[in-house]
Amino acid sequence: MSFGSSSVHSNLILPYIMQNATDEQKQRWLPGFASGDLMFAIAMTEPGTGSDLANIATSAKLSDDGSHYVLNGSKTFITGGALADRVLVVARTTPYDPDNRRGGLSILVVDASSEGYSVGRKLKKIGLKTSDTAELSFDDVLVPVADLLGEEGKAFSYLTQNLAQERLTIAFGAAATASAAIAHAIAYTKDRKVFGKPVASFQNSKFVLAECSAELQALQIMVDNAIELNDRDELTVPDAARAKLFATETAGRIIDKCLQLHGGYGYITEYPIARLYADTRVTRIYGGTSEVMKTIIAKDLGL
Ligand SMILES: Cc1cc2nc3c(=O)[nH]c(=O)nc-3n(C[C@H](O)[C@H](O)[C@H](O)COP(=O)(O)OP(=O)(O)OC[C@H]3O[C@@H](n4cnc5c(N)ncnc54)[C@H](O)[C@@H]3O)c2cc1C
Repeated sequence: MSFGSSSVHSNLILPYIMQNATDEQKQRWLPGFASGDLMFAIAMTEPGTGSDLANIATSAKLSDDGSHYVLNGSKTFITGGALADRVLVVARTTPYDPDNRRGGLSILVVDASSEGYSVGRKLKKIGLKTSDTAELSFDDVLVPVADLLGEEGKAFSYLTQNLAQERLTIAFGAAATASAAIAHAIAYTKDRKVFGKPVASFQNSKFVLAECSAELQALQIMVDNAIELNDRDELTVPDAARAKLFATETAGRIIDKCLQLHGGYGYITEYPIARLYADTRVTRIYGGTSEVMKTIIAKDLGL
């Protein structure tokens, strides 16, 4: 089951607030955050910038009296963006410097009811129908300096730190969906009869499910190890990338094989395997693509 934008709210946003908000900000935001009266989203991606976050162009210029930032730009693919009350917007507070690409980015917690803030299209997706995925735009939005999260110019290091945990949540979600896919395929193939025999009785079905089960166990052990590292605050960025890469690619393979065992019914959305297939595809893309995970791992190998 996918919890959509509420899992972004609680799994992804909460660590940013707990680690970087002041006591005054926590008092303002956390009661509504916990009750659900204030739903949060996070906006990093822009139409021209996804994988290369250092290239973010949305700008936040400090006013002459230093009381607020003036926010301009646009974001896309924002989970929960259409319904959010507050959005953590990553914006450039000092001009782009090619010699320090990761510098000059800050996180502003923007009130969605501000003048100049608008929600664009809700993007139509092949899966994850539980969450809205929206475009946002900012036209001279005034954001009080009291709503700067953490220190100005430090957003890139906050993102790096939190993306490791975000990738871990994607990895254990992948393990759960792969496990569910195998359970569905076992139940379905035992029930469905072809040539007078249950599909589960064919050697191919047994071998495919045996392979899936072995792959799932490897995936589960890797994810459990990453969770233990995270609990001890020892999960490194490259290890989180390894867990996300392996978990999402393996889950994708497992779910695809389990769908195949359903025949045509696997392609019909009323069957849970079809929804798992459509919902899981994006895990190899969001939170950093598989290719970006490989670049992080390769760098860790000194390449
Ligand atoms: C359903 C959904 C929900 C999302 N939710 C959010 C959200 O809540 N907040 C948010 O900020 N973003 C969100 N995103 C955005 C997501 O994180 C980006 O789509 C993702 O990071 C990839 O960026 P991009 O789409 O611009 O792809 P691009 O960066 O344009 O990549 C295109 C292709 O180039 C490859 N590529 C890029 N760099 C390299 C490289 N160095 N070497 C080799 N290949 C490379 C990529 O792997 C990919 O295959 C969401 C996306 C989706 C689809």
